[in-house]
Amino acid sequence: MSTLLDAGADLLLGSACVGCGDPGRVLCADCRSGLPGAAAEAWPTPTPAGLVPPFATGAYDGTLRSMVVGHKERRLLGLTRPLGELLALSVAAAAAATGPLLLVPVPSRPAAVRARGHDPTLAMTRRAARALRGTGREADVARLLRTRAGVADQAGLAADQRHANLAGSMASPTRAVRRQAGRRAHVVICDDVITTGATAREAQRALEAAGVAVLAIAAVAATERRHPPPYRRPE
Ligand SMILES: [Zn+2]
Repeated sequence: MSTLLDAGADLLLGSACVGCGDPGRVLCADCRSGLPGAAAEAWPTPTPAGLVPPFATGAYDGTLRSMVVGHKERRLLGLTRPLGELLALSVAAAAAATGPLLLVPVPSRPAAVRARGHDPTLAMTRRAARALRGTGREADVARLLRTRAGVADQAGLAADQRHANLAGSMASPTRAVRRQAGRRAHVVICDDVITTGATAREAQRALEAAGVAVLAIAAVAATERRHPPPYRRPE
């Protein structure tokens, strides 16, 4: 209900499209129709050792970036749906085979969730599962990851610092994992943006340490790297 009210407030209080700035919806029809329609592998450079294949729908700039930031920082909940649908494209590309899917959102720090008033990654992951179910896939969300205390904000840290900051920063509670045991679902870690891959790799490590096999990483967008291999844009 609060989502509906917030989405309504966006309209009533005079919002503007995050893509082009036109007054009206948080994402106008033109910008929406210009969103990617497919996802592809998006490997960070350098790639963290052992990282499972990461997928994204496009580069982290332009409308995609504005959507992610607006949703996360400005709580523009009208963007949850289009972001979730983009994330669903990445999940579908990562898990082209049939079979049930288990989407595991990268956890937000509890303090960040309190400050923002919502958990944007969880919200878009739930929406992605819904979109996948709409295409006939069996898809559920399981919050199998928790952050441990003492993790600094990643912003402003170089790649090697991020890895050091994140090592051991997540855990997968045994009880939560046990509830999923025996489901034989493809596990896909979901996040908003793949930057250095450090967060995704730590999420993968924590799940694997709990005995959960991870198929892939799915994100809305990936930052473009300056060095090869170049980011491959979706066809
Ligand atoms: Zn627009």
